[in-house]
Amino acid sequence: GIVVEKVTRHFAGQPVLKGVSLAVAAGEFVALVGPSGCGKSTLMRLIAGIDRPDGGRILINGRDVTALRPAARNVAMVFQSYALYPHLTVAENIAVPLSMRRMGVAQRLPLIGRIWPGSRAARRGIAEDVRSAALALGLTNLLERRPSQLSGGQRQRVALARAIVRQPAAFLMDEPLSNLDAALRVHTRREIVEIHRRAGAATLYVTHDQSEALTMADRVAVMQAGEILQVASPRAIYADPDDLRVATFIGSPR
Ligand code: ATP
Ligand code: MG
Repeated sequence: GIVVEKVTRHFAGQPVLKGVSLAVAAGEFVALVGPSGCGKSTLMRLIAGIDRPDGGRILINGRDVTALRPAARNVAMVFQSYALYPHLTVAENIAVPLSMRRMGVAQRLPLIGRIWPGSRAARRGIAEDVRSAALALGLTNLLERRPSQLSGGQRQRVALARAIVRQPAAFLMDEPLSNLDAALRVHTRREIVEIHRRAGAATLYVTHDQSEALTMADRVAVMQAGEILQVASPRAIYADPDDLRVATFIGSPR
């Protein structure tokens, strides 16, 4: 699971996270909601290791990862923008986390220039893992394409395939469906919950869509101005908010 303990982060002297504590158990799906600018993405980046907290600590499966680099944390992050490498094929994009794991720092830069690492056996292992992730997301016919040759929904699947390719302990998803049309969004919701269940991972899922939060999540965490106000089941958040701010936020669709 994910444990966040009293994490603080300031930008230019302004507190953006004011001592956030949050726990997501293995197998649990927690939706993180709150107004724009309240600190959701900042928190996700700290858990992923892309950014470091000023105070507090972060544990993944009981291990303090606060000082570890992203690749050493066993977490997978899916961004709103998908963050695919434009010059790599679909197969290569999916393989990036695998290749990173097998490489030292000095070897990572050339990867981005499409030089692939390791022995023949290592490459074959990577190819098999890529194939099964691609199969799970219906991408086997698209493996040689570039991101520019894909639809938005297909890009989103590539980002998800890249996230599941190494069976992470935690999934961090920051509005992964916001670029999709309504029909595809509803369909992909189910797929994401399915991926989460199959992996038995701890999933933290940021969304602006209240119906997503209420239908997908085991629990919903409501954040405002750098603080978590309440974490509870969708039913409790909706029917029995702790706080007027929670009631106002959940009650009034944006
Ligand atoms: P949204 O729902 O719009 O995505 P959010 O809850 O994800 O919002 P964050 O991106 O975490 O919000 O930003 C929280 C606050 O921190 C904002 O006021 C933002 O301007 C500020 N902030 C985030 N990153 C930086 C940075 N690198 N430098 C300075 N300020 C930052
Ligand atoms: Mg954000």
